[in-house]
Amino acid sequence: MVIKPRYESEELKLYRILNRRMELSDEEVQHYWSLEKGYEGELQFDAWLADLPGSENWLILNDLMLECNRSTFQIDSLLLVDETLYFFEVKNYEGDVYIDGNGRWLTLAKKEIKNPLLQLERSESLLRQLLQNHGIKTLIEPYVIFINPHFQLYQAPLGQPIIFPTQLQRFSKKLPKSLIIKDQNIKFAHQLVALHLEESPYKRLPRYTYDNIKKGISCVSCKSLNVNYEMGTLICNNCAYKEEVEAGVLRSVNEFKLLNPDNKITTASIHEWCRIIESKKTIRRILSKHFILVPQGRTSYYAESHFI
Ligand SMILES: [Zn+2]
Repeated sequence: MVIKPRYESEELKLYRILNRRMELSDEEVQHYWSLEKGYEGELQFDAWLADLPGSENWLILNDLMLECNRSTFQIDSLLLVDETLYFFEVKNYEGDVYIDGNGRWLTLAKKEIKNPLLQLERSESLLRQLLQNHGIKTLIEPYVIFINPHFQLYQAPLGQPIIFPTQLQRFSKKLPKSLIIKDQNIKFAHQLVALHLEESPYKRLPRYTYDNIKKGISCVSCKSLNVNYEMGTLICNNCAYKEEVEAGVLRSVNEFKLLNPDNKITTASIHEWCRIIESKKTIRRILSKHFILVPQGRTSYYAESHFI
């Protein structure tokens, strides 16, 4: 049973939008791709776990951001079954990696990558202290899961809490089968979810201002901003995908809100943001259908109904 489902992080959502609306530096592009890849790997792991026999009696918590002694740490996946809390750090690494004499993890091109065992150790220690502080007693079993079959680690020391793709099936056999979910475990799982922190993604983003991001409506299929508007339909010049204007404008409003949380949704602001729709009337019609107008004379704006 999934107690806390996984969604794309706000950071990933924002990077996706920024990637098509501004020039990212090489470093930013690399970071963006690592977010995409990481998320894809986590989804694969979720699907694998959900498919195992007996998984309906496990409590699964995804993507937790916790804090202990002023240090925050992130957990990809937790599995609570009987008396044990399995803690998974999921890595979607690809290609060949080796560990050198100093314990550094390097690609064949000698580029150092983060040692996930150190990350696992740190998170485990913080999780242990956090549970102790809350008077929770449970066994913790941490693992780094390499989910990508195209990953090979050379000179990996034995006896480490690492599960490679070829070992996943054997590992799954070791996970306990539970006949019931204990009430006490459900309570514990909800206690953990209550400790989850929502971290603001904005401080980790590339620098941008409203003026330096490209305006326009993105194609829902190929994500290009090379889209034209004709008689109620958006047509992508890149892939010829057609979309009804309303859906495209609403998606753009979402992107506008995410990128510019301090700017108000008005006919003028969304008209400028969408760029390709000449008629302000069309914009107003769509906004008034889906949002509520907060009347403030010349500074009236649209809000989602639950904000009023
Ligand atoms: Zn397209």
